[in-house]
Amino acid sequence: MINEKVGFIGLGNMGLPMAKNLEKGGFPLSVYNRTAQKASAFESSTKICSSIEELVATSDVIITMLTDDVAVTEVYNKVQQVTIAGKLFVDMSTISQQLSITTAKALIEKDAAFIDAPVAGSTKPAADGTLIIMAGGQTKDIERAMPYLEKMGRLVKHLGANGTGIAAKLAVNYYLAIALQGLAETVLFADKLGLQRSALMDIINEAAVGSGVTKLKTPSLINNSYPPAFALDLMLKDILLARDAGAEYSLGRVAANEYSGAQQVGLGKQDVMSIILALK
Ligand code: NAP
Repeated sequence: MINEKVGFIGLGNMGLPMAKNLEKGGFPLSVYNRTAQKASAFESSTKICSSIEELVATSDVIITMLTDDVAVTEVYNKVQQVTIAGKLFVDMSTISQQLSITTAKALIEKDAAFIDAPVAGSTKPAADGTLIIMAGGQTKDIERAMPYLEKMGRLVKHLGANGTGIAAKLAVNYYLAIALQGLAETVLFADKLGLQRSALMDIINEAAVGSGVTKLKTPSLINNSYPPAFALDLMLKDILLARDAGAEYSLGRVAANEYSGAQQVGLGKQDVMSIILALK
């Protein structure tokens, strides 16, 4: 369908740059954020809604990018106060597979459509429109969402029915939690041996062991400063979601314990890479 009205709920670290890319794409756009001042970054062509109900009533395709299960439950309860038949909902938050599937069922019963489309990539890919999007749901619904997903991501991978996108996201973030703890321990070990962090990261990033995420976290590690791109609280949420979904393995248990310890010493709002401060 062309000329659909798009609504975006959740203008946090990720949602704001993602919605800005939809605005740049020229779609008729409405936005809503619980903390209203975060919506001030938009052009006058974008409608700022003062409630979820208003945004849903005036949009055809509604995208949500919210913190966790609690936020998604609260928002979708409000969504269902409005007539939603014919509308498409695209939830890009990282939440439990169970909640994602239950929400899909509730909306589909009301003749709306729902896809789960969580993302890999942090705030920079969100701003660049180069996220990796993992989608679960019916092909026709993913095709309907595609013009918008393509403005936010460089790859949209359709994995299967509702809940499969979120399954892929939980698996990928399980790996991320372990990889970042591994990187933090490696840097601490090299510190002990008297190596410069910049030299160590040059080698890691050039060697086979380097990756997108080691490159991304290099400036933070060199400056020993961890402003939030992906908050440590969210990493802990995801490792616990993975555990609850059956990832009962030794490295996952260690990571859950360490990220939880880091949260307890007050690092939750800092970037996930600040795990290094807790491990130290
Ligand atoms: P964030 O900066 O904390 O933003 C969360 C958003 O959810 C905010 O807009 C917040 O509104 C809204 N929200 C929370 N509770 C709500 C409620 N009860 N009712 C209405 N709105 C509510 O988080 P983020 O970094 O953008 O992450 C969003 C999701 O993407 C998370 O599931 C995260 O795990 C996932 N993710 C994040 C990254 C990353 O690098 N940051 C990467 C991939 C995936 P307020 O502004 O009012 O608080």
